[in-house]
Amino acid sequence: MNPRYLVPFHPKRNAHYFTDLLVIGGGLAGLRAAHSAMPHQQVLVVTKDQLRESNSNYAQGGIAGVLGPDDCFENHVADTLTAGGNLCDSEVVDMVVREGPRRIEELIQWGTKFDQAPGGLALGREGGHSHQRIVHAHGDATGKEIMRAVIARTRALPNIHIWERAFTLDLLTHAGRCHGAVIAGPQGPPQLVWAKQTVLACGGAGQVFRESTNPPVATGDGFALAYRAGVELRDMEFVQFHPTVLYIAGSSRSLITEAVRGEGAHLLDSEGYRFMFDYDSRGELAPRDVVSQSIIRQMAVSRHNCVYLDMSHLDDEAVLQRFPGIAKSCQKFGLNIATDRIPVRPGAHYMVGGVAVDREGRSSLPGLWAAGEVTSSGLHGANRLASNSLLEGLVYGAHAGEGAAREAAEMPDAMTALPIEASERNGSGATLDTADIRASLKSLMGRLVGVEREGPALRDAVNSIDSFRAYVMPMQFDAAEGWEVQNLLQTARMMASGALVREESRGVHFRRDFPAPNDARWRRRLTIQIDKNGGYPEAGPPLPALPAPSATDSQ
Ligand SMILES: Cc1cc2nc3c(=O)[nH]c(=O)nc-3n(C[C@H](O)[C@H](O)[C@H](O)COP(=O)(O)OP(=O)(O)OC[C@H]3O[C@@H](n4cnc5c(N)ncnc54)[C@H](O)[C@@H]3O)c2cc1C
Repeated sequence: MNPRYLVPFHPKRNAHYFTDLLVIGGGLAGLRAAHSAMPHQQVLVVTKDQLRESNSNYAQGGIAGVLGPDDCFENHVADTLTAGGNLCDSEVVDMVVREGPRRIEELIQWGTKFDQAPGGLALGREGGHSHQRIVHAHGDATGKEIMRAVIARTRALPNIHIWERAFTLDLLTHAGRCHGAVIAGPQGPPQLVWAKQTVLACGGAGQVFRESTNPPVATGDGFALAYRAGVELRDMEFVQFHPTVLYIAGSSRSLITEAVRGEGAHLLDSEGYRFMFDYDSRGELAPRDVVSQSIIRQMAVSRHNCVYLDMSHLDDEAVLQRFPGIAKSCQKFGLNIATDRIPVRPGAHYMVGGVAVDREGRSSLPGLWAAGEVTSSGLHGANRLASNSLLEGLVYGAHAGEGAAREAAEMPDAMTALPIEASERNGSGATLDTADIRASLKSLMGRLVGVEREGPALRDAVNSIDSFRAYVMPMQFDAAEGWEVQNLLQTARMMASGALVREESRGVHFRRDFPAPNDARWRRRLTIQIDKNGGYPEAGPPLPALPAPSATDSQ
């Protein structure tokens, strides 16, 4: 069911390209990695759409970093460990948090204009953070501003070459190591890109679900192509759902930031009832996963397919000034956010699990490094603390890029194509209605592998995905639409099987049939690797105990 390569190629028929470093993905993690190359090294960055189309570009809230006078590293570490549901790697958390301010300063040096307050950077606070520590730009357009600055700096460097609209199909592997990737440009047959070292930074997989905050590029390609190449992935069941995603037929599923609830918005059901206090004493300010679960339950109670955010009791002008981006998105559908109720429901937001990496960003496959949302670094554990992901992309982008550059510099400069060949597949996918398969998969994932999960539904999901895979995976497609469906199916299979195997509730993973965490049995990572355990994840050894929390006032 899992042919090694998605398309056939032969080193005597396909074109070749040689580079020192190949970076797959042009979001924040990928570009940060590219900037770690030495000036004499040639770097190729590939993105499957335009360079600015990435999750990074859409980040709203900001980047977390210890920058305020009342804050300290121990506070940020404690908040991250608390959010992570007892599954973080505390040494990784400590390393990332301590490196954060330096990486944020670097972004400022590179031209990012963060919002200012009297005396310095304006620092916001988000759910789960005990202190003001979120730097942001243009209110709710942080990602756009960061990427503007980082892209401009990247384009100015003569040793970094960018291929836009170039779809990475698979990693090239030979004799147990990664040698680059097979990449299809907008036209012509795929090229074989040979690299001394490769960095994977393909971002997330929100498009696996019908409701998601992620842009269309987030189809989980990085997880699937790593899996086909034999790379170890872990904890693929941990998908963070954002509680409030705009739910209007025909709209893109925009995220409505939790700052809206922070400013006092109420959550109402279809009868106008403010329900959050029925589920949690913190009401609308309960943590993300609690709000998502409460919304799902209230939708069932009210038999309605969404709930509503209501800001009509707040000052109109202040609302419109504080949330200009959201006001604009809603206005397109005739909604005035200051007076009208905004229809929302939970949507897939962030992929917590992914390619296992060590502290340098090294994957299990020699020659392959990884950074950003495509990875499982140990920072987030079972749940991501808000605004820690851009930070992770910066820190791990720098580490993976530095490691890759260092090892590439030690390798001989004479590069040759290797005798790797991929065979034809079973038949042409041209006859398949891929749009229908994609829509069916997305809706199945929302229903069976969403915010609330349970054994029989998860088994049903795995079986249904396998029945799709049985006829879709052996097919050969000649365009991104088909390759993406194959990757979505593979990524969905890893998520569903992980969710089935993990018989407990922890962090973002909630099982109705196992509603509590079970540290004795499940304080472990679930690793998944092709050809091991019949495609099901396996539980690793118990994790070492976390250090006792230091004296902080974080909650
Ligand atoms: C709406 C929204 C708001 C968010 N807000 C915040 C926030 O406030 N703070 C925070 O810390 N995090 C936030 N996040 C999460 C954060 O933006 C992401 O986790 C982070 O930006 C991921 O960066 P990345 O570089 O790993 O991936 P991305 O930025 O997603 O980049 C992935 C890159 O890989 C490329 N790619 C993918 N597949 C292929 C392929 N097959 N071939 C070639 N290229 C490929 C894409 O084209 C893209 O260039 C938000 C996310 C969303 C969606």
